[in-house]
Amino acid sequence: MFEDKTLTCKECGQEFVFTAGEQEFYEAKGFVNEPQRCKACRDARKAASRANREMFVTVCASCGAEAKVPFKPREDRPVYCSECFAKMKEAEEAENAEEPAQTENTEE
Ligand SMILES: [Zn+2]
Ligand SMILES: [Zn+2]
Repeated sequence: MFEDKTLTCKECGQEFVFTAGEQEFYEAKGFVNEPQRCKACRDARKAASRANREMFVTVCASCGAEAKVPFKPREDRPVYCSECFAKMKEAEEAENAEEPAQTENTEE
């Protein structure tokens, strides 16, 4: 049987509970080490590594500034910096707002 355990986070020094349920989960997964960090720190690290992993630096096709995008840029597709992207989106929205949807022209 598992019992809740109080561990100390390596990252922030806070105590956190390694619950019986989590211990069971760890054993089921075959993990041998106890968690070193509290959930908040683990989540923060996960979020940080995800952010790092998924950002690609390229050059904006519009202004030539550095552009960071959350996907791998493809050579055949222009990539824009967030500023240009926002401007383009704005322009697009303005255009859509001004021009009503195309209707079939039945007039001669
Ligand atoms: Zn922590
Ligand atoms: Zn730009």
